[in-house]
Amino acid sequence: MTAYKDLSKEELLSLKSNLEKEFKKVKAKGIKLDMSRGKPSTEQLNLSMGMMDVLTSDSDLVCEEGVDCRNYGVLDGIKEAKQLLADMMEVPKDNIIIFGNSSLNVMYDTIARSMTHGVMGSTPWCKLDKVKFLCPVPGYDRHFAITEYFGIEMINIPMTPTGPDMDMVEEYVNNDPAVKGIWCVPKYSNPQGITYSDETVHRFAKLNPAAEDFRIFWDNAYGIHHLYEDKQDYLIEILMECKKEGHPDMVYKFASTSKISFPGSGIGAIAASDANLADIRKQMKIQTIGHDKLNQLRHARFFGDIHGMVQHMKKHADIMRPKFDAVLDTLETELGGLEIGSWIAPRGGYFISFDSMDGCAKAIVAKAKEAGLVMTGAGATFPYGKDPKDSNIRIAPSYPTLQEIREAAKIFVLSVKLVSIDKLLE
Ligand code: PLP
Repeated sequence: MTAYKDLSKEELLSLKSNLEKEFKKVKAKGIKLDMSRGKPSTEQLNLSMGMMDVLTSDSDLVCEEGVDCRNYGVLDGIKEAKQLLADMMEVPKDNIIIFGNSSLNVMYDTIARSMTHGVMGSTPWCKLDKVKFLCPVPGYDRHFAITEYFGIEMINIPMTPTGPDMDMVEEYVNNDPAVKGIWCVPKYSNPQGITYSDETVHRFAKLNPAAEDFRIFWDNAYGIHHLYEDKQDYLIEILMECKKEGHPDMVYKFASTSKISFPGSGIGAIAASDANLADIRKQMKIQTIGHDKLNQLRHARFFGDIHGMVQHMKKHADIMRPKFDAVLDTLETELGGLEIGSWIAPRGGYFISFDSMDGCAKAIVAKAKEAGLVMTGAGATFPYGKDPKDSNIRIAPSYPTLQEIREAAKIFVLSVKLVSIDKLLE
């Protein structure tokens, strides 16, 4: 394979004309594919259908603490759901609060509470002149949307293969009291699939924040979402690590069963120190009398325990793995050596992150759309939707069928090639 940058103008033009013919043919097929959001496929949702049968009109609906789950009661989660989610999140059962159907909701509430009421007695953020958040990039668009919504200034922190650039993180957090938080997806990150190294986690736990109300927003959304049984990433547990370093209150950990059972109908949870949880409960008891206990019971009874959940995740992996492999194989065979893009092969999570040549991402996404393939908008992986290099594209292979993924991957690489040639011809 000759790198495109080493081809002459004539060679590029002739290549372009061939690729355009190919593109025309693909376009004529009238394909309609959506690879924009990280949603489980129908086949994956079907894995949890048994959950619909665990609670019937004959079921005993009393939970372990003796409360009838059909009625009010139990503010922060029934025991059996706490145990299941605590094991999933690798924290003690008493360091967890179970919320409603979504972890994003819990993250939003956490920021909203800090804005209006502060953090464990600190000045409410809304009364401060400036509140800043560090945003490892590329990252999760909905995190950035929350901080943008509250007018919090977002600062890009480049991701490295071992996690966020920790020199920058330390510099900001340890010196600027306006920096109140950092968004982290520490395992199989969205979108790169990167897991923070041991050193990165140690450095997080050793932070010495200038702001006493600084918190790490540790969104472990993909904690048990492996793709391969023999190749898995390991992440050091952050709550314990912060406690060891004498900063037990510095982190909020979030997770949910969205991509384990049913997105939008799962269970969301937060894990944190006793002091943080006490602060959260003060608000929670005003906000609700308790979340959906029947759903908590359904989840607890369906999975049984963490071992049941781990077995269940293997079934998800069996469905996801061929799709990821199909995209990665196509990228490798079609783009390998051309030096017009780079990507990371993740070992878990929901995404593959692709970096095009600078200034090409928007055009690639637009080109793919011309052929019927909808991808996540270029720029979405950055705060304010602004990718300074216009190069990152998030590929979400989970939802379409394997056959569709093969088609989609072909459209994508064709689009990358065509746009890159145009860029080189400029
Ligand atoms: N966090 C990350 C990193 C995600 O990628 C997603 C969904 O894509 C979520 C949270 C959403 O989680 P939930 O459905 O629990 O709100």
